[in-house]
Amino acid sequence: EAITIQDLANRMAERAVDVIKLLMKQGQMLKINDVIDADTAELIAEEMGHTVKRVSEADVEDGLFSDEVEADELLQPRPPVVTIMGHVDHGKTSLLDALRRSNVVSGESGGITQHIGAYQVEQGGHKITFIDTPGHAAFTQMRARGAKSTDIVILVVAADDGVMPQTREAISHAKAAGVPMIVAINKMDKPAADPTRVRTELLQDEIVVESMGGDVIEVEVSALKGTNLDKLLEMILLQAEVLELKANPDRTAEGTVIEAQLDKGRGPVATVLVQKGTLKVGDILVAGSEWGRVRAMLDENSEQVKEAGPSKPVEVLGFQGTPEAGDMVAVVENEARAREIVDYRQRQKREKATLRDIGSRGSLEQMMNRLQENGAKETPLLIKGDVQGSVEAIAGALEELGTDEVKARVLHAGVGGITESDVTLAAASNAPIIGFNVRANKQAREAAEREGIEIRYYNIIYNLVDDVKAAMSGLLSPER
Ligand code: GDP
Repeated sequence: EAITIQDLANRMAERAVDVIKLLMKQGQMLKINDVIDADTAELIAEEMGHTVKRVSEADVEDGLFSDEVEADELLQPRPPVVTIMGHVDHGKTSLLDALRRSNVVSGESGGITQHIGAYQVEQGGHKITFIDTPGHAAFTQMRARGAKSTDIVILVVAADDGVMPQTREAISHAKAAGVPMIVAINKMDKPAADPTRVRTELLQDEIVVESMGGDVIEVEVSALKGTNLDKLLEMILLQAEVLELKANPDRTAEGTVIEAQLDKGRGPVATVLVQKGTLKVGDILVAGSEWGRVRAMLDENSEQVKEAGPSKPVEVLGFQGTPEAGDMVAVVENEARAREIVDYRQRQKREKATLRDIGSRGSLEQMMNRLQENGAKETPLLIKGDVQGSVEAIAGALEELGTDEVKARVLHAGVGGITESDVTLAAASNAPIIGFNVRANKQAREAAEREGIEIRYYNIIYNLVDDVKAAMSGLLSPER
């Protein structure tokens, strides 16, 4: 618990310079953006004639998100939320477009469909929600921010190209999130299509599709010709049935921001995926460190809706500021409460920025310490290397290092330079990244800096394994 002098002054409606003067009297020479601890802040506040009410995270955010399990009789089936992932050019966008064209829940006025970040289609009277921003970064970014927005991942693999590096990456992301996958073998219309090769290659990543005796659903499709899209939708519904997706629609809404931007005419616009309850016009909501009152809601057909229940994506107008994709949304009872929460979060954000340089959460040592504190047994790692052979050798060697007490868990092992998407995946699990004979690009380095994720470079496997071993044995020895 700490606060900057500026924030303390703001909260007391005093001038920061007066706070600094008081601190100076007590022998502390501090500047306006310096951080003081809660005890000091309390002393200062009392000295200046304010009554102090300490507000902890638990208090301010108390009851904002319901984590209690809701009674079964309140729950109703909800549509599955699906994200499409796969290698570049394998047909993610084409598939999203084809599905939208063929089955989109058509608006009453036959309105033009707008890209709002998600849309719903209907199959045999059942709805399915698709997140309309393909790509791993978006998926993992949301996860890194605590949002669990996807129920099912569609892994698109082009039948003429097979499993590629980003296919593997997608598999790692889905696995790390614990989200079930359906494989869509795309481009079946092409003469060079070889679905058997795709199935065989997937085995290497421990994806065993049904026709190979496994339990991962696969569908052969052509996004271009529109072949088998109905079957894909049916399979999604089948998988959804297995997952027994349910939510209580009769309560205040909770959800996730899928996309948000500042619109010139309309002000801040955020697409919210409702996950629990029903969002209504007039509701007051908080999303990350922004709040608003729902002025209007629009669906993907640009039609006004008054209410949005579980799994429904809607554009929400009425935010005071623009929230960020991945922000969790909650409806609160009144404006005062919304302001309290948002003030608190904005303060936290500033403090975090101030304290950022203090530590990187993804360094090997820090990670080991944290694991020890938590009594955790697994050490997440992400490995990138120059060739498949060395990546596999490293992953194998590291996994062998494990004991019953602690083991390395390779989140993702891939070929190629370290990218921003790698950093996002690592950040979601607080895992350091190991680069073997590869470097991180600029965006990745910046993201790592921002997220506090350590990237370690090696060119000798022995050194790498030794370092990890040392870090793990540090964790094992009781005196540390
Ligand atoms: P993304 O990068 O995964 O989003 O891939 P796109 O949807 O942009 O598709 C990449 C290219 O593959 C485009 O030229 C598409 O027209 C083409 N494509 C996508 N699906 C199919 C398909 O089913 N059959 C054929 N022949 N081409 C396809």
